[in-house]
Amino acid sequence: MRGTATNALQGASSAGAGPASCPQPIPVSKPMLRLDSHIDLPWPERDSHGLPATTPFETPQPCQFSPALAREGGLGAAVLAAYVPQGPLDTQGHGAAWARLQAQMGAIHALANSTGVNGSRARGAGQATARLCHSTNDVRAAHQVGQVAILPALENGYALGEDMGRIATVKRKWGLTYVTLTHNGHNLLGDSCVSAGLGAPAHGGLSELGREAVRALNQAGVLVDVSHASPQAMMEALRHSTAPVIASHSAMKALHPHPRNLDDKQLLALREQGGVVQVAAVRFFLARGQAGLGHLVAHIRHAVRLMGVGHVGISSDFDGGGGIEGWQGADQTMAVDQALVAAGFDESERTALWGGNFLRALHQAQAIASPLPAAAP
Ligand SMILES: [Zn+2]
Repeated sequence: MRGTATNALQGASSAGAGPASCPQPIPVSKPMLRLDSHIDLPWPERDSHGLPATTPFETPQPCQFSPALAREGGLGAAVLAAYVPQGPLDTQGHGAAWARLQAQMGAIHALANSTGVNGSRARGAGQATARLCHSTNDVRAAHQVGQVAILPALENGYALGEDMGRIATVKRKWGLTYVTLTHNGHNLLGDSCVSAGLGAPAHGGLSELGREAVRALNQAGVLVDVSHASPQAMMEALRHSTAPVIASHSAMKALHPHPRNLDDKQLLALREQGGVVQVAAVRFFLARGQAGLGHLVAHIRHAVRLMGVGHVGISSDFDGGGGIEGWQGADQTMAVDQALVAAGFDESERTALWGGNFLRALHQAQAIASPLPAAAP
């Protein structure tokens, strides 16, 4: 990949448009930091009596991610998404989603400071396995002392209801890395790319509230995530965002025509805008039937050839439908790295892919943020 990637990167550098005309990945000290930009917080759904189960990670399936598994597999940083499924677009639905988001954010904080099965204090007194991180500096500091960096995110702007002030509220109280504008359903912010059974697009892209969300995210220093958004909604987010936009977990439509994947035109627009696509290890996105590391690497290679190595990253979607042959849990992360080595990606290219580009985008988004408004008394 070396020659092609370098040429593509030079192409990206001379493009000159958008907020990041000459993007540089954020270097993190050795050993190499590996960041996974999308893991769902394993969340217990209601039990057979309709009562919420008590503890995150108490799920029917064994979890694919925990700080201990991450450490075992050489995964140094994980963006944990509070995933809020699409519900009715009414007061009750939005209220339940907002309550769920707050509970999940609390759980992510507890996880990052826990001493139990998910975060045993293996490195001596006073040092947890994981650390809650909000900035690239936080991630670097955690990595230097061998802690797994945990970054909180929100999957589905549905949880914001009609109140974009909640973006600053969540950011101030818990920290917030990105917000995925939509999920599998049109919401008040914009249209979803998954249209089966949803009927016609509700907004033809983003709604006025969706454009307000992009402004509020930019102001708060939170990345706009266009995975799950319709192509029109994605392009509109690119036009309106003053910070680089990300697709936190998507793959390549040119290689596999899944509605969740991005076509080359979308990828080039993302590059022009300074954004990053985080190629997802979801088998339905990568191939017909089973998918393995070869498919994942092929999708990464396509993105790098088209966009340059400065605009591509990696995500698993673990505990949310992700996992492929060879990468079924955070403990197998090194197998992905080895596949990238075998495909010819050198160390600096792999550093960029494994979160260097993602952290560059996050750093840029935070650099242009306004100070958060004070909390209401
Ligand atoms: Zn998703």
